[in-house]
Amino acid sequence: MKTPLITEIQRFSLQDGPGIRTTIFVKGCPLHCPWCHNPETQDPRKEFYYDQARCVNCGRCAAVCPSGASTLIENEEGRRVLNLDRSKCVRCMRCVAVCLTDARATVGQEMSIEEILREALSDKLFFKNSGGGVTISGGDPLLYPEFTHELARRLKAEDVHVAIETSCFPKQWITVEPLLEVVDLFIVDLKSLDRKKHQEVIGWSLEPILTNLELLFKSKANVRIHIPVVPDFNDSERDFEDYIGYLRNHADHLDGVDILNYHVYGEGKYTLLGRGESYLYEGVEENPPEKILPLVKGLKQAGIRSVTVGGLVGIGTEGCNRNRLTLAF
Ligand code: SF4
Ligand code: SF4
Repeated sequence: MKTPLITEIQRFSLQDGPGIRTTIFVKGCPLHCPWCHNPETQDPRKEFYYDQARCVNCGRCAAVCPSGASTLIENEEGRRVLNLDRSKCVRCMRCVAVCLTDARATVGQEMSIEEILREALSDKLFFKNSGGGVTISGGDPLLYPEFTHELARRLKAEDVHVAIETSCFPKQWITVEPLLEVVDLFIVDLKSLDRKKHQEVIGWSLEPILTNLELLFKSKANVRIHIPVVPDFNDSERDFEDYIGYLRNHADHLDGVDILNYHVYGEGKYTLLGRGESYLYEGVEENPPEKILPLVKGLKQAGIRSVTVGGLVGIGTEGCNRNRLTLAF
């Protein structure tokens, strides 16, 4: 069984499904959304954050680095400073272990299913009282279908509500289908309905995603759609019409739609991961709420039961459909 590294187990999460939840973030995603606000979950391999502001150039990391990725060099003023060349890094994480100022931190931990369960089940009482549960997110849990199935099965055996957050990318339905018996809610990210844009910008064909989604509907799975609304990618009138038209045809099968307005919170992580130059959304501002109002209105008019801006929030199953942002219609 291919087992993912875990980047975070977030307790008391209110936006990844109904009620109070614990969200498990697996590391690894086949899509390359350039606006991703969780870039630390894209690469399935271990990485480290390096925070230059905390670095005192002590050279402890350079002393243990086996590959020459961390070295001390003399700068123009004749001071010895740290030089980091990530292309030489062999991901041994020795530098993290010796750094005394927390300038380095490992991203991605090995965890057994037992260890994850121990952490996740500690809030079981809150799940029960709030109509919550556990959400397996990422990255994409479908990159690790057997692991996800086993974790979900063990959670179900403990009578815990299980959601998975995925782009539904696998090319074969046979990868997704077994999860029907152990997953209560599929939260499916639909980044765009424009085939060309999907392929060119995200690097993955839309076809298998739509096929899997149709099969989830056919199987009567409980499905919510996440739409990340991203400036100059999928926020035009045409994009909104495409979403509304497509989802109207599936309104009866849908639990609801959550609109996630693009935000800049992940920006700093690109720099910490040494990928600052690859981040194309630097300085791009969030859309004002009025911009997404036509999409919200259109989805409501299309008969979607629950439309939220920002994801499901609230305590108790009735409360779970409240919007984070109050919008006037
Ligand atoms: S051990 Fe930490 S503080 Fe010292 S040079 Fe390396 S990163 Fe900087
Ligand atoms: S993780 Fe990379 S930079 Fe750090 S000690 Fe190992 S090889 Fe060097």
